[in-house]
Amino acid sequence: MNDDELIRTLAEDRVIPMAGLLSLLMPASAGVGFSLKGLDGRYRLVNREMERLLGQGPACLVGRSESDVLPTHLLAQLAHCDQRILDGASASYEEVEMPVDGRISRCRWINLSVFGTDHKLQSIASIVQETFPSPEISSMQQTLDRLRQANQELQRTVGELEQVASTDKLTGAWNRRRLEECVRSEMDRLNRYEQPLSLLLVDIDHFKAINDQHGHGVGDQILQTMTSMLQSRLRGTDALARWGGEEFVVICPNTGRSTAALLAERVRVQIASADFPLIGQLTVSIGAAECNPGDTWEEWFQRADEALYRAKTGGRNQVQLAPAAVRPPDTQGYVVANFVQLVWQSAYECGNELVDRGHRQLFADANELLAAILGQYEARRLDLIVETLTTDVVRHFADEESVIHAAGYPGAAEHAVLHRELVAQARRLLDDYRAGKQGVGDLFQFLAYDVVTRHMLGEDRKFFPYLRTQVAAPVRNREAPSP
Ligand code: GH3
Ligand code: MG
Ligand code: MG
Repeated sequence: MNDDELIRTLAEDRVIPMAGLLSLLMPASAGVGFSLKGLDGRYRLVNREMERLLGQGPACLVGRSESDVLPTHLLAQLAHCDQRILDGASASYEEVEMPVDGRISRCRWINLSVFGTDHKLQSIASIVQETFPSPEISSMQQTLDRLRQANQELQRTVGELEQVASTDKLTGAWNRRRLEECVRSEMDRLNRYEQPLSLLLVDIDHFKAINDQHGHGVGDQILQTMTSMLQSRLRGTDALARWGGEEFVVICPNTGRSTAALLAERVRVQIASADFPLIGQLTVSIGAAECNPGDTWEEWFQRADEALYRAKTGGRNQVQLAPAAVRPPDTQGYVVANFVQLVWQSAYECGNELVDRGHRQLFADANELLAAILGQYEARRLDLIVETLTTDVVRHFADEESVIHAAGYPGAAEHAVLHRELVAQARRLLDDYRAGKQGVGDLFQFLAYDVVTRHMLGEDRKFFPYLRTQVAAPVRNREAPSP
């Protein structure tokens, strides 16, 4: 087996931790026999020196076990050495005497455990070296030093190979394999922490025609430009992969359905309004889907794919959103019945007229803002809606603070602090938005999501019980009346 074959087998077996040892040990000239055997005792990889030490010709050892090639007295000793690894030792060591090149030679036989990616023992590596009394033979220490050095070098190479193996050659985006790895861990996280997770499937419209008209080279350039555009639009935690020819997948952790729709819409608008070298205008269609609890990757992807199909058949240059999972009505968080609306539910009512009116108003404002963004309203109208929403938030906060204070809600002061923080942040974002430093999408995310839905449906619910009992038990005296 030559080095190339060895490395390939190694990669297939995913024996990454041992890879460094292998590279060093492969050259027969190093005078070190090396082998890797499976837990069934059969050799999987053997270098030339090992073949010589075990009295075998080239390529004769793989698939065979020690009992096929070694004298019985040696087998017991080596079985003992293997057993220590099977019992959990990371290394075991024996001095053995064995026939080498027609004479009996003393050898050091070292076994090392090799773990698979599942962290279970996968194979046993053996390092075998003749121990001559002569001083010119390198000591075990020197061998180990060389091993260590070579190991580092190979780890670096493995890292580089890994990088190459996980990115798409043309665009540098992640490839399918890397994406699927990422998806698996994100889906795990979603299930564990119940965090929302969404995906966008972005497909260039009529790309074939671009190739046909301008040539494949231009098509390639477009794919590269598209990749950097997408990348620049995404957040640090989003993952971008080239899924196929002119199709990209974006995984958005911590992102629910409506935020994903918004992100998709921003991407669509940005691309539609960009000027591509040589070809000018270009559009994309996007299918977005939130991962439902219990979804497999295939099911989730399928829903995004169906949404993309609707975007294509619906005329292209548009975003379509996969239907939401049916959630129980008391689910914390926000409920979006369709692409363009936050839907008010009676469960959101606290019973106090002023507070409820304020909350309803904010819902309506947020909906209007969402519609304005999706409908690409002109800037002045958009500004007006942002302005209204901000003013309404501030007014409502003040109303709510006086109501909960009067109702004796013990967290009233703390709640007022939360309000102040939200307002301060809203003002900062608003200033940035006006100065052109912030997109309207971020402002929407904050106002509609953080303030209106998150705060209202999360933090506010804590005082609901105080407002509901307000009428029945207005003020509780410290001293209970005598029976
Ligand atoms: P639609 O709007 O329905 O998506 O139409 P389309 O033409 O974009 O889709 P179709 O699937 O018919 O064609 C995709 C084209 O993408 C065909 C193929 O030649 C081209 N393509 C795939 N990979 C590459 C690539 O790496 N470079 C270039 N230049 N073109 C590619
Ligand atoms: Mg296409
Ligand atoms: Mg509040």
